[in-house]
Amino acid sequence: MTTTAPQPTPLQPTALPHAATVIAELALVLPAAQLVTGPRADAYRRDQSDSTATGAPLAVAFPASTEQVAAVVRVAAAHRVPVVPQGARTGLAGGANAIEGSLVLNLTKMNKIVSVDAEDQTATVQAGVRTYALARAAAAVGLFYPPDPGSWKGSTIGGNVATNAGGMLCVKYGVTGNFVRRLTVVLADGSVVRTGRRTIKGVTGYDLTALLVGSEGTLGIITEVTVGLLPAPAAASGLSATFATTEAALAAAAIVVASHHRPSVLEYLDRPCITAINDFDPDSRLPSGAEALLLIQSDQAGRAHADVEEYAAILREGGATEVLVAHDSVRLDELMTARRLLQPALQAARGSSLNEDVTVPRSRLGALLSGLAAISLELSIPISTGGHLGDGNLHPVIGFDAAVPAQVEAAHQAFARVIALAIALGGSASGEHGIGVLKQAHLDDELGPVLRDLQYRVKKAFDPQSILNPGKKL
Ligand SMILES: Cc1cc2nc3c(=O)[nH]c(=O)nc-3n(C[C@H](O)[C@H](O)[C@H](O)COP(=O)(O)OP(=O)(O)OC[C@H]3O[C@@H](n4cnc5c(N)ncnc54)[C@H](O)[C@@H]3O)c2cc1C
Repeated sequence: MTTTAPQPTPLQPTALPHAATVIAELALVLPAAQLVTGPRADAYRRDQSDSTATGAPLAVAFPASTEQVAAVVRVAAAHRVPVVPQGARTGLAGGANAIEGSLVLNLTKMNKIVSVDAEDQTATVQAGVRTYALARAAAAVGLFYPPDPGSWKGSTIGGNVATNAGGMLCVKYGVTGNFVRRLTVVLADGSVVRTGRRTIKGVTGYDLTALLVGSEGTLGIITEVTVGLLPAPAAASGLSATFATTEAALAAAAIVVASHHRPSVLEYLDRPCITAINDFDPDSRLPSGAEALLLIQSDQAGRAHADVEEYAAILREGGATEVLVAHDSVRLDELMTARRLLQPALQAARGSSLNEDVTVPRSRLGALLSGLAAISLELSIPISTGGHLGDGNLHPVIGFDAAVPAQVEAAHQAFARVIALAIALGGSASGEHGIGVLKQAHLDDELGPVLRDLQYRVKKAFDPQSILNPGKKL
């Protein structure tokens, strides 16, 4: 097993061209207001991950159309300048971090909702549209776009597709990729292609849409996305349940999952997560004082209320210390808002942190959580864990003081061991945040060298000069 710790070394470009020439050529294809150079470009250096490698960008471009993206990429390709696509930079793996001398392509100005088609139940949006704006546009015509990453008010659809983002509702509805039908993509030479189709079915050619989903900006720049939508769900009911032990919470949650009505939300928070969220925002009012908290909802038409009462009975039977049922949307929104604060609350509580995103088969969650406790104890480093229990996808957050070298070392050791543990349990280094620059050291452990090499060859077919987000993902 590889145990190499992720080290924040500067991201180097594949080649350094003449900066002034590149900027002059970019100025020919973009209005001045859409191009940022010099020290102001530095503001676009990183996403929301801690301790990940970055470099100073040569320039940041804010294209407003697919044609402008293509023109910018053609300039970059001619000079072999690395291109780093960026959405809203809410990523937690350094995928959107600038590379030294790179051209950052920030898609947030491409924020038009092109169409919402109620008859075909699809929506087509530019890549920079915020996730929440898409969900609202679908809701306005009685439809539903389910993927709801905790960051959904800020994150872009392009970023969600590029990371195959998940969220609270994915336990029932699936992740971003399950909804993507068609992509407009600018390739590494500046040519524009459309993959997939608007229809529900279609198998002509290889499924390049699926390949681009989760590709973290290394295969193409996504400029437009067509997603499938669902009929709006029924009003949800939900509950919060506290437990004196993690084991009791997991055992009760396993019975809920095995029941014949799939919950629409099944989230977990440990004691330090609960405390961090309540401290970060006292309006959160999460039930405190327990070792573990479960948040569960049902949005099953005609059954939501009954499902939640059934879940409440299962949890009480399973030893929950307190079960609070909520049938009103105000309290349910409060609970979900509090849960969405997990990342910023832990970052605020811990100073520096390394964010894990491991996923394991649900049957191995107990082994994962007890293994995390053992790693934390052995290395004397705090690990707080919350996340999407229903998906088997948890976010252990390793806190450390960046000014204390021994803590930095212990944090990096813990980071590597947590991933090794998840892989040993039949899981993965990343369920939804992506590999970025944070987790590459562990790819061979999970993929093996043959599959990793095959993936390099796929990358080469899309991007022979390796200018698209080099040094990320693989
Ligand atoms: C508070 C908080 C909560 C979060 N909760 C969740 C969660 O529940 N589930 C989850 O999955 N993630 C979560 N995240 C992580 C993050 O929000 C997601 O990864 C999100 O999909 C990133 O979107 P973005 O627009 O910010 O992309 P960025 O961070 O800007 O980019 C992410 C990656 O996508 C690439 N990229 C971006 N746009 C494009 C494009 N148009 N074409 C090609 N490549 C592109 C970038 O190069 C980078 O590799 C959370 C983050 C925060 C800060």
